[in-house]
Amino acid sequence: MSDDAQRWKAKYLQSLEQQEKLEKRWDFRLDLLRRGLVRSSLAAEGSDKAVDQCMRELREIVRGDQMDAGLSALIPRLERTVLDSEHRRQRGIEQSVAALGSLANRLLELDLPRELRKDLKQFAKRINESARHPREMPALLAELSMLQGQALLASQTDPALDRPGLLQRLFGGRDDAPACEQAPENARKEPVPPAASEPVAGGVIQPYRGEAPVAPGVTVAPRPAAALTAGLDSLPLPATLLTGEGDSAYALPSLPEPGYSAVAQHVADSLRSLLDELELPEYHQPQAEALRQRLQGGLNWYELVPVLDDLGVLVLAVTDNGQREFAGYLKQLNQRLAQFLDNLSVAQDGHAESERSARALDDQLREQVSGLQTSVQGAADLEHLKQSLEQRLGGLLDTLDHHQQQRAAHEQALGERLQALMAHVSSMEAEAQGFRDNLEAQRQRALRDPLTGLPNRAAWNERLDLEVARQQRYGGDLLLAVIDIDHFKRINDSFGHLAGDKVLKLIAAELARRLRKTDFIARFGGEEFVLLLPGTPLEGGQQLLENLRTAVEACPFHFKGERVAITFSAGLTAQIAGERSDETFQRADRALYRAKQCGRNRVEIHEPDSIAPAPDASGALLAE
Ligand code: GH3
Ligand code: MG
Ligand code: MG
Repeated sequence: MSDDAQRWKAKYLQSLEQQEKLEKRWDFRLDLLRRGLVRSSLAAEGSDKAVDQCMRELREIVRGDQMDAGLSALIPRLERTVLDSEHRRQRGIEQSVAALGSLANRLLELDLPRELRKDLKQFAKRINESARHPREMPALLAELSMLQGQALLASQTDPALDRPGLLQRLFGGRDDAPACEQAPENARKEPVPPAASEPVAGGVIQPYRGEAPVAPGVTVAPRPAAALTAGLDSLPLPATLLTGEGDSAYALPSLPEPGYSAVAQHVADSLRSLLDELELPEYHQPQAEALRQRLQGGLNWYELVPVLDDLGVLVLAVTDNGQREFAGYLKQLNQRLAQFLDNLSVAQDGHAESERSARALDDQLREQVSGLQTSVQGAADLEHLKQSLEQRLGGLLDTLDHHQQQRAAHEQALGERLQALMAHVSSMEAEAQGFRDNLEAQRQRALRDPLTGLPNRAAWNERLDLEVARQQRYGGDLLLAVIDIDHFKRINDSFGHLAGDKVLKLIAAELARRLRKTDFIARFGGEEFVLLLPGTPLEGGQQLLENLRTAVEACPFHFKGERVAITFSAGLTAQIAGERSDETFQRADRALYRAKQCGRNRVEIHEPDSIAPAPDASGALLAE
């Protein structure tokens, strides 16, 4: 290779390396950004329902693999929602200021001691300024409560005041107002919080809104109108809809989004078991122990974030430790290979040495024998011949002895080296096996969806390639189906994400237990599942999917005792020999799109020979 070519090659390799470094840095930053977004979105939650919803969606997008498209669709909406929320907050503040001001003015209308009147006037002046800072609100309310208490005391201790009660005067005479209509006896007793989007203004309690909201599209079994007014919980449900009390497994959590305290124990338990599963290096054990103790004492909302941060550090330490262990192993392997080479070259040297000594022995023997010959030829008498022969033979034997000793010592050294080498090799094999097992266990974990326990998308890709290759080699039928739960977003919106998660788990189990061993199901993402049915003709596959559809439709999901029907739509198609798997997938997706268009809760088939020129429908479902 010319110098120029060498230089270019070096430059190319260098820029390749640079590129890899940049990519790694970029991945690291992207990861940081994702984590930052998730954490910030958690921190931003709790002030407004609509913003909370955006934050939840933001987390889903950030955790998914369509971040660009998802974020550019979400951000404009998020901006609007934040603006709306700010306007609502502002309105709420104005209403609070007005309510506090009017309360102070009503107090001032009373006959009060001069000192108290002065305090109240000062308070009324300050309201406007202070109430604009929400953090001042508790102090303002406490002050007002104190002033109000003093006013009450003053008015009670004044015997001349034979007037209606203070509260009555403050809020207007109500003595002659008609009594509130008696609430139905079995009406819900617990207080119903006002809708989050409408702030409680000036202490006015919002009217009772009745049922837990159920979004349109989520089918809730119809009930007689009169029965609804009698309160939901007390009513028996139609026998066709409820399958009895044993169906608690299908009960959706009754609080749409439980407060943190309701899930705190669960969060702490989950974190503790996560911590227990971490294989931490020795020097991180004290940190783990401290974290365990913090979890033991119960977690409140404010501790959660630092605990998660610390746990994050430990998880990173485990990964880092794993990498370091592996790097250590590679280093050791390298050293042992060097030793191995050393031993080989020693063995080679030994071999050359023994060749040399065999040649020397040969020379010496030849020399001795030729000396013997000369002695025999030059011998004058028998006695002389005998002496000279004995001398020569003695020399010969010494040479042989010497050579044998040398050889034995040499062989022993070689044998010892070989044995040490074999011990090294077998310990290396054992270590390598350990690493292989570990890698396999990690691989298996990486192929499973933690929520449903089903294989995940990565596992799906592997299996799809395998089944397609098998079909191309041996022929036979191979069906592919895409299943998508209907109106799942509304399930989340109506009953909360915990309920949504429970639905996903139960449906996954329902589907999986109805398949054959050779079939394959995976969670493709969100509320979508994918199936591979090898050795199944199209009619058989259609029948199977119909069975799955009716089984899911019949699952007795219920919320607060009320039946919630959950259904799915599916698209099914057959793999054509020689076709790329993504083409088959698109066909099944198109069939699914048709199923959604035709009213949902149905299975549509896209027969391969009826393939129409690809309409844009396949992308439309994903973009919906
Ligand atoms: P369609 O009938 O057209 O399929 O309507 P859809 O509401 O089911 O479809 P869409 O794609 O609009 O909404 C899917 C929702 O699934 C949005 C997302 O919040 C929710 N989701 C995705 N993954 C999860 C999850 O792991 N848990 C929960 N609870 N919800 C999830
Ligand atoms: Mg979907
Ligand atoms: Mg859906």
